[in-house]
Amino acid sequence: MAIAPIRKKDKVLVLAGKDRGKQGDVIEVDRVKGRVLVAKVNMVKKHAKGTPQKPGGIQDKEAYLPLSKVKLVCPKCGKATRFKVGTISDGTKARVCRHCGEMIG
Ligand SMILES: [Zn+2]
Repeated sequence: MAIAPIRKKDKVLVLAGKDRGKQGDVIEVDRVKGRVLVAKVNMVKKHAKGTPQKPGGIQDKEAYLPLSKVKLVCPKCGKATRFKVGTISDGTKARVCRHCGEMIG
């Protein structure tokens, strides 16, 4: 199954896990391990060590989700749909929403 590449700042829908159905913005994509960090999704408690500037303690932090657990949301039509990667006239690649046919770059 070929999935369209997900990039930083994309909006994605979470398909599985405790945050299933939530949408969030992609903070980081780890292509090597095939995982993604989504803002306010899959929050975990992290024990932070204190520094002279910052007190330590328990902080909420995003944890990585597998790329297969998120779906790209089209910014044009708002649907979590399938995308194909097309090439536009000047040779650059763009992602095309299969629902509305818009290119989202
Ligand atoms: Zn669309």
